[in-house]
Amino acid sequence: MPSRIASVAVAAPLETPLSYLVPPELEEKVTPGMRLRVPLGRRSAVGFVLETAEGNGEGLKPVAAVLDDVPLFPASLIPFFRRASAYYRHPVGEVIRSALPASVASDKSRVRTLTEKIYEASQQSGEPSGAKQKEMLAWLRERGATPLGEINRRFAAPHAVLARLCELGYVCETMRERRRDPFLDRPVAPDTPPEPTEEQAEALRTISQALGAQVYASFLLHGVTGSGKTEVYLRAIADALRAEKRALLLVPEIALTPQLVGRFRARFEKSGTRIAVLHSGLSDGERYDAWRSIARGEVSIVIGARSAIFAPLCDVGIIVVDEEHEGSYKQGEGFRYNARDLALLRGQMAGAVVLLGSATPGLTTYYRAQENLSGYLPLTVRALDRPLPSVELIDLRNERPEGSLSSSLCAALQQNLERGEQSLLLLNRRGFAPYLICGDCGRTFRCPNCEITLTYYQGRRRMLCHYCDYAETPPEVCPGCGGDDVRPEGSGTERLEDEVGSLFPGARIARMDRDSTARKGAHEALVARMSAGEIDILVGTQMIAKGHDFPGVTLVGVVNADQALNLPDFRSAERAFTLLTQVAGRAGRGQNPGRVLFQTWSPEHYALQAAVGHDYRGFYAQEVQMRRELGYPPFGFLVNLVFSGVDAAKVGRAASQLVGSLPADPEVEVLGPAPCPLARLRGKTRVQVLLKGRRRPPLHRFLDQVDTLRRCVPKAVALAVDVDPIEML
Ligand code: ADP
Ligand code: ZN
Repeated sequence: MPSRIASVAVAAPLETPLSYLVPPELEEKVTPGMRLRVPLGRRSAVGFVLETAEGNGEGLKPVAAVLDDVPLFPASLIPFFRRASAYYRHPVGEVIRSALPASVASDKSRVRTLTEKIYEASQQSGEPSGAKQKEMLAWLRERGATPLGEINRRFAAPHAVLARLCELGYVCETMRERRRDPFLDRPVAPDTPPEPTEEQAEALRTISQALGAQVYASFLLHGVTGSGKTEVYLRAIADALRAEKRALLLVPEIALTPQLVGRFRARFEKSGTRIAVLHSGLSDGERYDAWRSIARGEVSIVIGARSAIFAPLCDVGIIVVDEEHEGSYKQGEGFRYNARDLALLRGQMAGAVVLLGSATPGLTTYYRAQENLSGYLPLTVRALDRPLPSVELIDLRNERPEGSLSSSLCAALQQNLERGEQSLLLLNRRGFAPYLICGDCGRTFRCPNCEITLTYYQGRRRMLCHYCDYAETPPEVCPGCGGDDVRPEGSGTERLEDEVGSLFPGARIARMDRDSTARKGAHEALVARMSAGEIDILVGTQMIAKGHDFPGVTLVGVVNADQALNLPDFRSAERAFTLLTQVAGRAGRGQNPGRVLFQTWSPEHYALQAAVGHDYRGFYAQEVQMRRELGYPPFGFLVNLVFSGVDAAKVGRAASQLVGSLPADPEVEVLGPAPCPLARLRGKTRVQVLLKGRRRPPLHRFLDQVDTLRRCVPKAVALAVDVDPIEML
């Protein structure tokens, strides 16, 4: 007799899905997208139903339990998970597990659905006799369905009164799945949509046509800083919603984009459109709530960081990727996907419009537009005809300042203070100093787990490792030579903040970096103070360059514009150009024009020159030539194999053996094995092998060989396959 068989993606490092027998009593519930508990060896594991079919169930183990009452994702997402799994060479069960919020994919049994009691006035007319009862009933009649929590906040000890009202039939009690989201509980200012500029209108017409066609189309929205890309997103999404579609908006980091979320809420919530914001500040329960309400189809717009690309949304009409050039769209560990690239894939599979927005598009994205692989929507001028800021270089070779700031930059800051305008100062390094050094013997202090120096924090009197969080108290005397001249070398934001404080004693100065914003809400508070004009000079890392719209900022200073250029990475020029253009773009967005000063030791570098001239095309032309010659993306594809383990000899041997057993392939270049730039990290030795190919298919065939050979890699050595790597440190 044929039985029902489920193909299950088990959340474990297995290469393929497994088949399980579906017991007759579970047949109705075992449908695609359902979460199950299944036996796996002598243990049990969580798995997700990919499909079910009739077949011969002989020898198959039965499904142990169904863990949810509704599917956690629509069946239409399953082919997407499969393609992502094949592309990134990651098991499909693990793909789905990383796609789901941890609380949803949890190994524990059923995630407890949070419920709450709801009270609502019934149809029954008339009045109860008690004064307290009267008061509460009148209040409930006015408010409609109200959670107990809110009643508790309004009335002291309401239970007896409520119970009596229910007993008398004036009020009904029900249970409801609780939905809370602190992000969405805050009030937003009302919004008046501005009339689109000509360029915005042109872009919107093109997008609207594509939406109407209901087939996949991708666009690069290339808009200079302050050109009003967000307005295009808002209107394009409104357009999609009118056609009964839903929208997905990806942002680099949700905690850093309170302004953008606010604009979406202001635009859409008054018309009753539900927005879900997936962000790291959510508790497990809140995340689970948000996920399930998306899966139930209650939400029209999902906003989130990279993992939101997996949101269980049906009928996706448009996927917007804001600041598409951002490296944070790439997951650096485990399932190493790039959400920007998956957005294109998901859009393709769903027949949706994909809109990639940036002032500094990734080279590959711009190349695609040049080759007509995607549409190109330029916004070349700022909204309200505001000019782009003027950018000047300060040649540090001539100025040689004593501290971090040249006299020209100091003078500009002074002037801005006198005018009562705001300034930003970028130094892309946290802490007080990148290291301590003994002035007598030259000794520095390194992390015992990682091959890097410890960052010095003066305020906390600590030396910290930014990779593994190792911490130590700085020594009074040098442990090597006993000398007492142990001093900080170089500057980070903490030191810069101090320096600026002593240069401008009357100024209101604040700092924005990972350290000063670690506390929940701290970043948003800084943004609010900036917007309210309560800060004169904001010192910070690249965090200050990210998408903010502070109309009061008229001066931007970059302390060390060369910093990004000196990283050992073929993308260093692109990174530098992007960072400089983005941070410059924060200046002069309001009524007063902006001015930008870059301090540099290499003023002739083309990335700097292009940033000075707001010249993306010029930068692209130079950069793309180098990439073409060297076969780097977009003219070639990379896969990085990273071997790591505690035992350095074993790691080295495993890498050499695997490389030695790979067949020669004229289409694939094998570089390495070689130590990673960070050769030791968190106590592990790291060795990499870079695969480079001009075309994808041979590279992927080559990876099939790697998959076979990796079975011979000893357990003590981990091998991570990073397809389209971004960070190769
Ligand atoms: P971008 O993301 O391209 O840097 P924003 O979307 O933040 O730019 O827009 C910059 C500023 O211009 C915002 O304050 C926005 O409200 C305003 N703006 C955008 N479009 C228009 C428009 N059509 N008319 C007037 N102001 C606009
Ligand atoms: Zn460390």
